Amino acid sequence: MPGKSMEALVLLGPDEYEFREVPVPEIGPAEVLCRVGAVAICGTDLGIMSGKFFPMWPPEWPFIIGHEWAGTVEAVGAGITDFKPGDRVAGSSAVGCGHCRNCMKGRYNLCLNYGNMEAGHRQYGMTAQGAYAEFINANARSIAVLPDDIDLPTASLLDTAGIALHITKQGNVEAGDTVVVIGPGAVGSITYQCARALGAGRVIVAGRGSRLEKAKALGFETVDVNSRDVMEYVREETGGIGPDVVLECAGTAQTIVQAVEMIKKGGRVVVGGISQEKGEFPLHRFVLDEIEVVGSRAAPNCLPEVLALTRSGALRLAELVTHKFPLSEFTTAIKTFRERIDGALKVVVEP
Ligand SMILES: [Zn+2]
Ligand SMILES: [Zn+2]
Repeated sequence: MPGKSMEALVLLGPDEYEFREVPVPEIGPAEVLCRVGAVAICGTDLGIMSGKFFPMWPPEWPFIIGHEWAGTVEAVGAGITDFKPGDRVAGSSAVGCGHCRNCMKGRYNLCLNYGNMEAGHRQYGMTAQGAYAEFINANARSIAVLPDDIDLPTASLLDTAGIALHITKQGNVEAGDTVVVIGPGAVGSITYQCARALGAGRVIVAGRGSRLEKAKALGFETVDVNSRDVMEYVREETGGIGPDVVLECAGTAQTIVQAVEMIKKGGRVVVGGISQEKGEFPLHRFVLDEIEVVGSRAAPNCLPEVLALTRSGALRLAELVTHKFPLSEFTTAIKTFRERIDGALKVVVEP
């Protein structure tokens, strides 16, 4: 059993953090105390650290962030029989209250008690204590046991993989479909793999730089937005018809509009990238071409599924981990991630 205190990376306010001794979290019923083995840095972490999401994420300072993690079970709370000390597990970043209408329907990513700790909702590293620490206290509904053949740094990508899978499922991808994935970043690079895993006949990845090179290296068809007009390329390559599904993972107003403009009549666009900008939508297309545009948030019920797809080899996550650092070198790790040093895609820290 751990002692009473632990080392953690604590945010004190916007762009201010330090390593501190803090109490080891206490576990309640249905909760599991886990020793954190690996945490993947997420773009959302940068936003939270800058203070731009305060007071939504975090609701208060000081705060411990980190939501893409894997580790080992230390202790289990009352009523937990599915996990035991020593189990290696991966964490999912959110758990719903479990009793609101949306949670009851399995849509706990849209929990009606979002952020309400008393009701039982948790978004780890955003509204509840996160994983840049020796231990995290996770609801049993938010973790899954890992098989021996998946290491902890790879497993720390499973939350992101779940987001990518949810985006792909929201697209209702059918066998043989032509799917365009815009934005081959951390989420996009797993989304194009999911599209193929779910039966797409052809997957075209639009992007630039080392991230697009990664897609090519993984065997995907790519189009470089710096050297080609993507709209023109996709139109030509689909006989002027457009793709069946577009999965938008870049999150700019321009790429979201582009997705709606390039889609086939009756096609489906999923917006997974979060845009802060306003854009002008080609509104007539919704009606006259019966375009479906849906959003995709988080990764409800996806953890067991991406775990299975990773084991089967359909998802190649280990190759997306470009850098690893001990937690004590967090400052270097975050700089490497932010500035995309040496083609950084997923940067993992190990407490
Ligand atoms: Zn994330
Ligand atoms: Zn709920």
